[in-house]
Amino acid sequence: MKNVKWFLPVIVACFGLFTFTSCQDNFDLEPDGQDQFDDNFDDDGDNDSDNGNEGASLDSEYGVAIYSVDGQNIIKTDSKNVNPAWMNDDVKHQDIWEMVTTLIPADQRRWMTTFEIFDGGQELLGYVYNVTSDLTSWNFALGIDSAYPDGQTLQTSGDFIHTIIHEYGHIMSLNDEQLNPNSNSCDYNPGEGCARTDSYLNDFYNRFWADISSEHSAISEDDYDALYDFYDKYDDRFVSDYAATNPVEDMAEVFSYFITSDSQPTGNQIKDEKIRYLYEYPELVDLRNHMRATTFAMPEPGNWKRPNCKKHRHIATF
Ligand SMILES: [Zn+2]
Repeated sequence: MKNVKWFLPVIVACFGLFTFTSCQDNFDLEPDGQDQFDDNFDDDGDNDSDNGNEGASLDSEYGVAIYSVDGQNIIKTDSKNVNPAWMNDDVKHQDIWEMVTTLIPADQRRWMTTFEIFDGGQELLGYVYNVTSDLTSWNFALGIDSAYPDGQTLQTSGDFIHTIIHEYGHIMSLNDEQLNPNSNSCDYNPGEGCARTDSYLNDFYNRFWADISSEHSAISEDDYDALYDFYDKYDDRFVSDYAATNPVEDMAEVFSYFITSDSQPTGNQIKDEKIRYLYEYPELVDLRNHMRATTFAMPEPGNWKRPNCKKHRHIATF
């Protein structure tokens, strides 16, 4: 019964948004059957620069506006008119950006070089990708339909706060100071580059994933039955079933629990240890204190739409 409960929404959501592609790496399927990768994503789901065409641009399918980040300010570089018209409102875009800058201090935003607003159709929540292959520049993208569920009022609590925290959890752990894209020698490589020895993910992986990674690696990323069985087997290790997707998503969800929980967990399960692990980093504790000192209401830990499906690109299941 648990399997049915988890898999059906996953499949529905994936097919609903990415017709015919299931949860594969391709976002679009051309009518002639040729896979058409999104402008900004290659077959890793990232914006690697193998083709030498680095840079962020407006998402061809979902994008509404894309901005260049200049410190506290954003400057629009491209946009398209969408319906409903309120989604084109620059003031709303600016207000969303102000939420981001309020939650995340400037020094922690130094990798965010572009900011994108998209229409997620009530399904796509947010995504990040590296704009340059050296991992110094990242695009941070948020769904305006999630930000303004009723088209009028900015959601300053709940799911949208979680989306910002979760997506930032990726940039925090995948940037150039954390990963070395030019190295092939490391304990863990999420795809963008080798986890540096002193990185969050390197310790996280070695402490909490190394002994189960071969078992996890043997599971196909679209074999949801097997993935759920993996979670079910190790549910004492994961804050949610989604966290069992891979170490990168685990980190983003543990980070979300770390930020939104009122205090350190006292339990002895590995999932409790994971949250306490982030308290070992003073800069993360500072970030947590900063985020929690804003006027925004933190969501109840775990009480948010389940991000799903694509590498660093998240649609929701309900
Ligand atoms: Zn994620």
